[in-house]
Amino acid sequence: MNETELKPCPFCGGKAVLHVRNGVRVVCKDCGTGTIVLVDGESQGKPTSGAIESVIEKWNKRV
Ligand SMILES: [Zn+2]
Repeated sequence: MNETELKPCPFCGGKAVLHVRNGVRVVCKDCGTGTIVLVDGESQGKPTSGAIESVIEKWNKRV
């Protein structure tokens, strides 16, 4: 288990996706709502699971 489940968008109920590009963030595919971008400075162009888990946690706490 290395992936945490993303909850649906709290605003429109749309599907949330994890974007990994110069950092990680969670974005709703339907309305475009997203979290801030988190970057793990220790990685080399590849975010660590720590950053991914943090951004997913932020997304899931949005109610
Ligand atoms: Zn949405």
